[in-house]
Amino acid sequence: EALEADAIRRKLHNQIQELRGNVRVFCRVRPTTSETAIVDCAPDGTSVELKRSDADVAGFEFDRVFGPSSTQCEVFDEVSQLVQSALDGYKVCLFSYGQTGSGKTHTMLGDQHNEETRGIIPRAVAKVVEASEANAKKGWKYRMCASYVEIYNEQVRDLLKAGSGHSDKHSIAHVDGVTEVSGVNKEPVESVEAAAGLVRRAAAARAVEATQMNAVSSRSHTIFMLYITGEHEASGSRLTGCLNLVDLAGSERVGRSGAEGARLKEACAINKSLSCLGDVFQALSNGQKHIPYRNSKLTYLLQPCLGGDGKTLMFVNINPEAPSAEESMCSLKFAAQVNAVELGRGGAKRNIVSGIGKKEDKEDSSSGDKKPD
Ligand code: ADP
Ligand code: MG
Repeated sequence: EALEADAIRRKLHNQIQELRGNVRVFCRVRPTTSETAIVDCAPDGTSVELKRSDADVAGFEFDRVFGPSSTQCEVFDEVSQLVQSALDGYKVCLFSYGQTGSGKTHTMLGDQHNEETRGIIPRAVAKVVEASEANAKKGWKYRMCASYVEIYNEQVRDLLKAGSGHSDKHSIAHVDGVTEVSGVNKEPVESVEAAAGLVRRAAAARAVEATQMNAVSSRSHTIFMLYITGEHEASGSRLTGCLNLVDLAGSERVGRSGAEGARLKEACAINKSLSCLGDVFQALSNGQKHIPYRNSKLTYLLQPCLGGDGKTLMFVNINPEAPSAEESMCSLKFAAQVNAVELGRGGAKRNIVSGIGKKEDKEDSSSGDKKPD
């Protein structure tokens, strides 16, 4: 009944996703504190405007735009089917992109102790465990395990191993279409409680860092990796899916502050991996034969989700306050480029930027057909 309906919804979701291409972009605008907001979300739920002055207004369209009053629950509802498609053998990746303070961690992790304000990671794990139990009734047996890592300066740290540091010793490989990171804990996820415990441990490891070394937390990527193998006993069918939930490093430009030495290396590495991500999307959208996944740890780790029949959803998080105008513009432009990526499979990708206002903001606009629905 309810389970059946959910399975049907998931199947429909997979079919729709196949028609529309496998990279989606959602925009989320956080609430303001004291400053006035210069970002407007239209009531249609798909467009957003950045108003730098009366004469300078830039408009962008995405698959979905969440305004400042959107709740964690509303956001999760929109990604729930995508998350669950990992149980059907898809390689799925969700990530949040934006400057520090724009709401990336709030969106991905939130307050995991609070039913209402917890973010996508705790909700997703609970949902997948729940759905796998429902599928068990139809003869599917799943095994799930998880890793939780941080990438900083092209070095990996295992957030599930208390006290471990960043290191070069963790190598990344693809086995059976999923990413393996050597020397990193892969822990069984047999229940919602087990999953919650894991998320808590990783968050605690990060919290220590946030107080001791502020730079690391804003300049590193954290990736929650859920591995899923399923077996249908009667038919002997097998599948391997994965779900990667990524809280990216802050996208703000560094350098103007005169970073030197280790700081500079840090800044470059972060810029490098985010720009590598941009390069990968660019190459995908150009239909290039060679996609430069190997240029950064992050893109190599996410390769199964970014290309082929992977599914990717990017949140671009926006701080709508006036002092963030330039960074917001950069983030929205990056997101618009990602939104233009269409990976084969037929569906016409809709328009990207509908630039109104200053000429330079129109450069990558394409007059567009509305997205199919
Ligand atoms: P980032 O991870 O991008 O640096 P955070 O997620 O830490 O940013 O957000 C910065 C602050 O703003 C945090 O205190 C967070 O709780 C708050 N915040 C961000 N987005 C929202 C939102 N949608 N609703 C309420 N508070 C938010
Ligand atoms: Mg954060």
